[in-house]
Amino acid sequence: MRPIFKSLLVRPPAAGVKNVFLRRYAPQRTYISVARAHINSSGEHAMTKLPPLAAMPTGALLRSLAFTTIMSTALLKPAMHFMKLVANPNAFIFSPDRNPVVRMLLRPTFYKQFAAGENEKEVTKTIRHIKDQGFTGVILGYAREIVVETQGRTPRPTDNPTKAELRDIELWKQDTLRTLRMLDSGDFLAIKYTGAGRIAVDACLAGEALPPKSIELAMDEICNEARSQGSRIWIDAEQTHLQPTLDRWAIDLMRRHNRDGKALVYNTIQAYLKSSRETVLSHLRAAQNGDWTLGIKLVRGAYIANEPRSRIHDTKEQTDEAYNKIVSSLLRQDFPVDGDHGIFPKVQLFVASHNVSSIRQAYSLHSDRVRDEMPTVYVEYGQLMGMADDVSCELLIHRREDLQSTDEKTRLSAPKVFKCLSWGSTSELVQNLYRRAVENTDAVQRTENMAKALRGELLRRVFRLSS
Ligand SMILES: Cc1cc2nc3c(=O)[nH]c(=O)nc-3n(C[C@H](O)[C@H](O)[C@H](O)COP(=O)(O)OP(=O)(O)OC[C@H]3O[C@@H](n4cnc5c(N)ncnc54)[C@H](O)[C@@H]3O)c2cc1C
Repeated sequence: MRPIFKSLLVRPPAAGVKNVFLRRYAPQRTYISVARAHINSSGEHAMTKLPPLAAMPTGALLRSLAFTTIMSTALLKPAMHFMKLVANPNAFIFSPDRNPVVRMLLRPTFYKQFAAGENEKEVTKTIRHIKDQGFTGVILGYAREIVVETQGRTPRPTDNPTKAELRDIELWKQDTLRTLRMLDSGDFLAIKYTGAGRIAVDACLAGEALPPKSIELAMDEICNEARSQGSRIWIDAEQTHLQPTLDRWAIDLMRRHNRDGKALVYNTIQAYLKSSRETVLSHLRAAQNGDWTLGIKLVRGAYIANEPRSRIHDTKEQTDEAYNKIVSSLLRQDFPVDGDHGIFPKVQLFVASHNVSSIRQAYSLHSDRVRDEMPTVYVEYGQLMGMADDVSCELLIHRREDLQSTDEKTRLSAPKVFKCLSWGSTSELVQNLYRRAVENTDAVQRTENMAKALRGELLRRVFRLSS
């Protein structure tokens, strides 16, 4: 067996079937082909596509299969009960820091599925595995945050921080820089402003036009270092009582740092908010008037359970429609931004979603426009680690096929695909792991579809090996 077949657990082709290795991105990397050429009775080549998950390494496939099976069967209830206990900060006995059995149960399951690692060595290895699968890059965030309760809080003054509060900001900056240094050119660093602690939260709640000076200086240092290593930054969206201020702070950062025709900083827009389309329009106008590049990471929104319901679209279908319409309007450049120069502002769009229909619509529209030489915007795609691997793999297959094309425009439209990772110790990540588990539970149909696709792919590999 040739090593490439061995490593991918794909049997060498039978007589009459020729495996075509469509891509080698770099000489040191090997990639499974996504198509097989059958020589049919008339001697012609007929291409048969392999399923998207054919691109997934077998170890990750088995782990994802075990996980999604748990999340879509009767084992779900006890698993979620266990996660809820572990994520409860008062349940000392279940803390992964104190209880080695809990740690032992979490590490190979939830942690391995959703987390990048505990330290530089583990995280770098995970990133390498991801990029070796053909992903364009990663988005990395550090899980440890200084958590300050925001609901019902009356903000205190922020102009005279205590030594401890300044220490919190310094710690947040150092953790963020440490995370940034694990990334390569083209990757993203994920930042939450509120992770900087009490001062950030209270300034945000008070609606201050700019972040407190110590946070502003820290952000500038992070932006400058990101620029010099060619990485980018995205600012996560949070709850609606914080978001208008976070938007203002992000706009100020973009105004100062997205100057050279490229977006160093991306802000997040939550399409589940009824105001999302208006927000995009006002940010486009600000970019147009200020002549800077707008970076938009578009998500549906993760805080539906904690938000005033009236601010969120009444139905899931309306959120879907809002999301898809924002994507298509940006890709077609047809938001009504008729400012002084009448030229659509420079925009870089990141489509962050697990929804296969949104992803397919975005990819298809963007490819058509590039091929037809119609105006559009720069676009990238991403899913969270351990989630929607079938969607990510489908994009990877388009990427490989497009890059293989002899047509230059098709090569240009090849999707850039990212995985979004969090790193930190098991106890630092426990809340994050719980949120991911809940999200999988909420998206029951998607989890079941993914389990089915993974089972199908495993059977395909086993069958090919044994026949
Ligand atoms: C790479 C990445 C980064 C992310 N970063 C952020 C972030 O910074 N901030 C943030 O808030 N979220 C973030 N998310 C999470 C995201 O907002 C969604 O919660 C999650 O991805 C599920 O949405 P989906 O697009 O994958 O599609 P789906 O799974 O099809 O949609 C589920 C979403 O639809 C919406 N929805 C569900 N039911 C209803 C209803 N009855 N009425 C109205 N709307 C409904 C909710 O937003 C829900 O999360 C991120 C997601 C990804 C993939």
